[in-house]
This record gives sequence, structure tokens and C-alpha cells, in this order.
Amino acid sequence: MDFKTGYKMSNSKQLEELLNEVKNCKRCRLHETRKNIVFGKGSINPSIVFVGEAPGEKEDELGLPFVGRGGMLLDSWLHKYNLSLDSIYILNSVKCRPPNNRDPLPEEKLACKSYFEKQIELLNPKILCGLGRHGFGNLINIKNKDSFSSLRGTLYYYKNIPTIATYHPAYILRSRKNEIEVFKDFEFLKKILYKL
Ligand code: URA
Ligand code: SF4
Repeated sequence: MDFKTGYKMSNSKQLEELLNEVKNCKRCRLHETRKNIVFGKGSINPSIVFVGEAPGEKEDELGLPFVGRGGMLLDSWLHKYNLSLDSIYILNSVKCRPPNNRDPLPEEKLACKSYFEKQIELLNPKILCGLGRHGFGNLINIKNKDSFSSLRGTLYYYKNIPTIATYHPAYILRSRKNEIEVFKDFEFLKKILYKL
């Protein structure tokens, strides 16, 4: 906070510093095989931040999150609900692609955790939306016994930020009949957003 004016200082410089730190990061072995780090995309003053897990092949090539088939589906949901990268932000919790799209290892997630936490702190969204069990699990502690579908439609808090869950677009590509459930989650999300 700027104490003279009361205005919040711009977060863009701090986000740029964080980006440069990630670009040079060698904290875990994923740096050996990455083509590009995948930091995030969208507004730096977002109403919503969508949280995925880790970059895939196309994301690694382009250095941008959700640009493959799953990304196109996510784009269509955003479009349907009148959301765009002018007002939202999309990121992954792990910034480098795991080889052959395997799940990131616990030690890789841990190594990358502080970047993701700092990034959310700087973006300071009104609401967070975790994509799939892994994306959401980065924000809220999920117990093994919890089915993912039972976690949807409930409001959680990640460090005081309202947080909800929806399906990952990669899952919906395999199970199109559940896309209707995603629409319910987006409606829930927008309802919360309007109330805030
Ligand atoms: N899946 C993710 O979780 N993130 C991406 O960026 C692409 C696919
Ligand atoms: Fe660093 Fe994260 Fe990439 Fe590992 S995944 S090298 S911790 S930026």
C-alpha cells in the first residue's frame, strides 16, 4: 500500500520479477527437459484465476498454459460465460512440463509451490477455480476418500480467497456428457462473483 495516496502499488513489476526467477529456475529436474517455462496468461488484476496442474506438449512448445485441445474447450466455456483474458488469469501450479505428460512428482510440486503461491498472492483474484482433482488439490486439501464430483458446488477458501472446483477440460474431452456439470459450476462461480 502507498501510504500517501492509499492506492495499491502495481503488481506488474513484482510479477515480472517472479517470471524472471521462474525462467532461470533449476530447482527440480523438470528444468532439464522443458523447452519453455509456462508461467500463466491473462489479466494481472483478474476477477477469477483458473488453476491447472502442469503444462503439456503444446504448452511447453509455446510457453503458454491451456493452448492444446483442452485449452480450446476451456476457451469455449469462458466465451459462453462472457469471460476473457482481459479479466481472468489462467495458470498451472507446476511451471515446467513433466516428460511424456506424466503426473508431476510430489517433490516437483513442492519445489514449484512457492512460485504458484506468490503468483496468486500478487494476482489477488476475487475467486479461484481449481480445474480437476489435481488443479483443485493444489488449493484445498483433498482426502483420498473424497470423490471429485462431491467437492463441486461448495465454496472453499484458499488463504481467504473464495475457491471452487470444476472438472478439468482434458477429462471433459473424454467424457463429453459431463460438460453440463461444468456449466453448473460456471453458473455457481458467477453467482458468487456477483455477490462479492
Ligand atoms: N492441462 C493443464 O493442467 N494445464 C495446461 O496448461 C494444459 C493442460
Ligand atoms: Fe523450477 Fe518449477 Fe520448473 Fe521445477 S517445475 S524447474 S521448480 S519452475
